[in-house]
Amino acid sequence: MKILLAAAEVSPFAKIGGLADMTAALPKAWKAAGHDVVVFLPLYATIDKERFGLQKLPLLVDVPFGSWTEYATVWKGMLPGTDVPVYFVASSDYYERPGIYGYHEGFQDNDRRFIFLSRAAFEVCRAIDFAPDVIHAHDYHTATMMPMLKVLYRQDPLFCTTAGVYTIHNMAYQGMFDPARAMEFCGFDPAEWYTGSWYEYEGAFNAMKAGIMFADKITTVSPTYAEEIRWTPEGHGMQSALQVRGGDLIGVLNGIDPDEWNPETDEHLPVRYSASQIDRKEANKQALLRMFQLPDDERQRDIPVIGMVTRLTEQKGIMLITQVIESFLQDGECRFVLLGSGESRFENYFKDLAYRYPYHALIKTGYDTALSHMIQAASDYYLMPSKFEPCGLTQMFALTYGAVPIVRATGGLADTVQQYDPITFSGNGFMFQRLMADDLHASMTDALRTYKREPHWTSLRINAMAQDFSIAGTAQRYIDVFGWAQQSRR
Ligand code: ADP
Repeated sequence: MKILLAAAEVSPFAKIGGLADMTAALPKAWKAAGHDVVVFLPLYATIDKERFGLQKLPLLVDVPFGSWTEYATVWKGMLPGTDVPVYFVASSDYYERPGIYGYHEGFQDNDRRFIFLSRAAFEVCRAIDFAPDVIHAHDYHTATMMPMLKVLYRQDPLFCTTAGVYTIHNMAYQGMFDPARAMEFCGFDPAEWYTGSWYEYEGAFNAMKAGIMFADKITTVSPTYAEEIRWTPEGHGMQSALQVRGGDLIGVLNGIDPDEWNPETDEHLPVRYSASQIDRKEANKQALLRMFQLPDDERQRDIPVIGMVTRLTEQKGIMLITQVIESFLQDGECRFVLLGSGESRFENYFKDLAYRYPYHALIKTGYDTALSHMIQAASDYYLMPSKFEPCGLTQMFALTYGAVPIVRATGGLADTVQQYDPITFSGNGFMFQRLMADDLHASMTDALRTYKREPHWTSLRINAMAQDFSIAGTAQRYIDVFGWAQQSRR
């Protein structure tokens, strides 16, 4: 199958969160399964062209935009470790600036920047003569490719048999734009935007709604989230659009790339291990404590380590953690190791916590891939009390690395973690339902009681590591969805 994937993030070129992991891992797995894949991404100023060996193509592509034409130059590289071509759409006006989305509210012209990417992807396909069987768009950034396919390129010989599949990674970011601007940039008839139209939500142009309504199939990143977004406020206002398209909405659980996340081969770990040598995790724990410069006598105290690697935002349930974590640290019941970046109020809270509990709160702010692997390998438990979680990758990394997850039962967390039952020895972690500090406290207390208490401790960790989240299964599910999209192409 010939697949075009276009997104605002693709690891390792441009990554903020799990979107980038998936847009890199899926093409790699599709290629390995024999499919023909091309990837589109903006050439952000932060992408190191030399390091990734990017080449400028001798192309100047006309991109119709409103009633005028703009131009894109195109750079080409390969997804590292693969022969999947990545086309980087370059425009000094749109992408030559620091950051991917801009801080907080985002850049004022994110409508224009991402509509440009979406339209340019079609035009570059024409220039390189690539006729995709399916266009796979992600989140609000490339959502407008779905209506573009149906409205602007339906008669184009290159795209007349192409199906559109739209994947939602997070309902919270929808691309609410000024309708006059967005309709014009997309090249749509402005009269097609009206109250109740497929482009409209609450008086704005809504890129996600347009993606949902025009796609042949819609997917989201876990089965539970696919239900939640139709029937609960997790739909962020898109519930009725998703109900209209309910028959075409499919939850496909994300997967992880075993070349990157495998404790037996992980190059970031001082000591590698598998489920049958799980005791070797201990050496990684010692190494991590040394990295945080804990003195010898402190390191030798055998206290459980609870790890966390996360964006510091409301979504991740950080408020709850601030309400309960100190009671555990005060009593020296555990060490808390956090790598995170995000909202400054949370960064400041954790820096202060590290200052007050220097031996028990080990905090690093910023972004650090190597440390993110170390934390998974070194942790006894992994904390993820998310308010909502479309899928979540880090709890899957934790399970794969034998760190027992403590999570709230929402979205993909509910699909990947099962509460441990000490009677049957089944389950791989600890789970609570309500977004309440008391419930998190109870769940953490329950979890910490199992630390090195046999036979529970071994059962928990073996159950965790036994699960297979490998991307190959996820990639095949998408191929099935692409086939269905072609059969029901509108
Ligand atoms: P989300 O996409 O909502 O941020 P996920 O759990 O799906 O959450 O994916 C987060 C990804 O980003 C994981 O690969 C995780 O390891 C990585 N990550 C998050 N914060 C950091 C950080 N501060 N340093 C390194 N990696 C991080």
